[in-house]
Amino acid sequence: MTRFFSGKYAALEPYTPGEQPKDMKYIKLNTNESPYQPPKSVVDAADEAAKNLQLYSDPDCKKLSDEFCKLFGVNADQVLFTNGSDEALNFAFMAFCDGENKAAFPDITYGFYPVFAQLNFIDFEEIPLKADFSVCADDYVGINKTIFIANPNAPTGLTLSLGEIEKILSSNPNNVVVIDEAYVDFGGESATKLIDKYDNLLVIGTFSKSRSLAGARLGYAVSNKDIIADLNTVKYSTNPYNVNSVTIAAGAQALKENEYFMDNCRKIQTTRAWTKARLEELGFYVLDSRANFLFAKSNRIGGEELYLKLKSMGILIRHFSKERIKDFLRITIGTPEQMESFIEATEKIIK
Ligand SMILES: *Cc1c(COP(=O)(O)O)cnc(C)c1O
Repeated sequence: MTRFFSGKYAALEPYTPGEQPKDMKYIKLNTNESPYQPPKSVVDAADEAAKNLQLYSDPDCKKLSDEFCKLFGVNADQVLFTNGSDEALNFAFMAFCDGENKAAFPDITYGFYPVFAQLNFIDFEEIPLKADFSVCADDYVGINKTIFIANPNAPTGLTLSLGEIEKILSSNPNNVVVIDEAYVDFGGESATKLIDKYDNLLVIGTFSKSRSLAGARLGYAVSNKDIIADLNTVKYSTNPYNVNSVTIAAGAQALKENEYFMDNCRKIQTTRAWTKARLEELGFYVLDSRANFLFAKSNRIGGEELYLKLKSMGILIRHFSKERIKDFLRITIGTPEQMESFIEATEKIIK
């Protein structure tokens, strides 16, 4: 830290993204990317848009918005696009949390939530998951805080039913409840259908996982028009051109190709079930994930040791050092071939 760095950030602990090592070619099962490339039409749309990079991007993302509204059945004033959904999450912390509206989220969840809270000087409560790692909806009833829940949750992959989410929404009428649906297309149920019923619901999603556009950085927020207007106040006070024109074009085309991506999601679900069964045969305890990853613990080897051994064999998975989950590993579901390599290597290590 230089002597110039603001003291207000002295205690800030930045988010640690999954490693992207370049020393050799790894089978990358550590950052929940899609193993499938976007279709050619999406690449072509991005290419075409790149010809006009001398111009600013459209702050309304109209082309993208039109496709999105068709597919999701919402109006243009009910959606906001962002530079990855991380930006939408940060906007939500900025817009809907303060000294009175503190934040609350599970103790085991997306590691960016506490970072955004710290960045914006928001007090937060971490509510422990149950012993089986599920979210206990009753713990969120009437807590009068701005609630952030990833559904499916990360890194567990477990889901909360819409009925339980409704209980949280109706019992916290004076706070926004943010449902982060980064993994919803892999077997969750979207809360977007509830936005007309609850005026405190904000759903956030991303094109990074199910739509193969992690490198394009595209996220969205869906809610009623008043919540979206608040988020726009924050957006237009930080970065009106937050989504670049290449990404707008790629995102719009990706929505036209929705079936291609939903097909990939079904493939990933099949591969997930195969991988879970193999891991269980090898003595792993595996949570019932509805996301594009598995969260698993071996009965024979510690989490960190297995992570390091797999890395030395060219396979990257994610290990978290947080005490409660330090024996678990989060394994992104890749192609069937990648998962066969992963299972073979794991078998070798533990036998
Ligand atoms: C990956 C992820 C995100 C953010 O992804 P972006 O690439 O910024 O869109 C948000 N929430 C959860 C739970 C995630 O796992």
